[in-house]
Amino acid sequence: MMSEHTGRDPVPQPLLRVEGLRVAFGPYEAVRGVDFSIAPGRVLCLVGESGCGKSVTARAVMRLVEPAGRVTAGRILWHGGESAEAMDLAALDSRGRDMRALRGPGMAMIFQEPMSALSPVHTIGEQLTEPMRLHLGLSRKAAEERAVDLLARVGIPNPRARLSAYAFQLSGGMRQRAMIAIALACSPKLLIADEPTTALDVTTQAQVLDLLAELVRELGMAMLFITHDLGVVAQLGDEVAVMYLGRIVERAPVFDLFDRPHHPYTQALLRSVPSLRGPRPRRLAAIEGLVPSLAALPPGCVFHPRCERAAAGLCDRDDPAETATADGLRTVRCHRVEAFAS
Ligand code: SF4
Repeated sequence: MMSEHTGRDPVPQPLLRVEGLRVAFGPYEAVRGVDFSIAPGRVLCLVGESGCGKSVTARAVMRLVEPAGRVTAGRILWHGGESAEAMDLAALDSRGRDMRALRGPGMAMIFQEPMSALSPVHTIGEQLTEPMRLHLGLSRKAAEERAVDLLARVGIPNPRARLSAYAFQLSGGMRQRAMIAIALACSPKLLIADEPTTALDVTTQAQVLDLLAELVRELGMAMLFITHDLGVVAQLGDEVAVMYLGRIVERAPVFDLFDRPHHPYTQALLRSVPSLRGPRPRRLAAIEGLVPSLAALPPGCVFHPRCERAAAGLCDRDDPAETATADGLRTVRCHRVEAFAS
């Protein structure tokens, strides 16, 4: 076990705790034993190259991978219910009543491409007010008033008039804002955001990120934020989990991770980032080689074919276990972490 002390206040009790999550698509495992937790008012960023399992992990929490995928093992413990006992979402029917009741007021998701998430045949107003009437029991009038407030809150001008608009009548930035408003319609305790600003121009992206940060602060909402933009991580995250080939290879508070990345993959990802205090970090640097296919996972440490620090006879043979710092704030999955954690 590594020794490290950061002197931080204890992290609040989690709203969501994921333990040993595995998700398979046919014979291939896209998520291979993932653990993390998120507390109210905190933002966990999931980062990594495409194909590392970030989106699948997030969708699995919402139980949105079926029918193509399947949660094959692990627990998704939800502490946001009435009972003191956590509810294991992995054990629920993904289309059953409990999961449906949870989506909306418990957890909601915003996606990279709003056109695929918004209904083309229902107005923005209908998409906003229906969940409020269903989950919150609001009257039509009360739901409409709340919808107008929400649209104003996410920065949509002339919000009352927008209630009758369809998605295709809005600009890209406005659609993204409308989708955020819909996700927030029932005041979810957990917001899952999957690259929600990637398709936006820089100005709109900054506005949407500011808005999300404000909402986390004001509403005490927890957020799982998926991104490949390290600038966004630095701006928004409390904690960051780096994923590679279906596993979290390093997890730490954001500042610690940027300041002292331990895992060679994290170090490679951050190589182009001078410092949190320096100029705004650039996007992820390209790393030598490609992410291997799930159908042909390398033996030993799956990162070894791309790792500059791989030790022959060890890294190409043995799968490294996860180790944690004494305070539990950082975990790393690497045989040689003691040798070169900088
Ligand atoms: Fe590199 Fe070996 Fe650590 Fe894997 S276990 S990241 S190959 S040093």
